[in-house]
Amino acid sequence: MAFNVLVVDDNRMMRSMVARAVGMSGLSISKTYEAGDGVQALKAMRSQWIDLVLLDINMPVMNGEEFLTQLRADTALSKTLVIVVSTESSQPRITRLKEMGAGFIHKPFRPEELVNAVNDLMAGKVGGDK
Ligand SMILES: [Mg+2]
Repeated sequence: MAFNVLVVDDNRMMRSMVARAVGMSGLSISKTYEAGDGVQALKAMRSQWIDLVLLDINMPVMNGEEFLTQLRADTALSKTLVIVVSTESSQPRITRLKEMGAGFIHKPFRPEELVNAVNDLMAGKVGGDK
């Protein structure tokens, strides 16, 4: 399966870094899209098919947690794989994101951490039982 990936981060350089890491991860990538906040990300997801979202938390307009809440409430998009990529260290917040079925990796990350997070998500190891 080739993935369409959406990188969501308010920092343009960080988006480029994440996109590059995705490219080096060994995952089969079809297309990579970028968005600068949650509103842009939802808009992008309603105009093209996205398999995997790499999501920053701290962003203007709509942050990552608000975005994830809206995504999970949208029946057309709710099953999308999401990995939060953040410097976030608040454990309650990380737990809330995982309860919404998201993977979590700390910035900066190595490409293999991304691959592992995707594999864990696809194996159903994230969310639910935590
Ligand atoms: Mg940010």
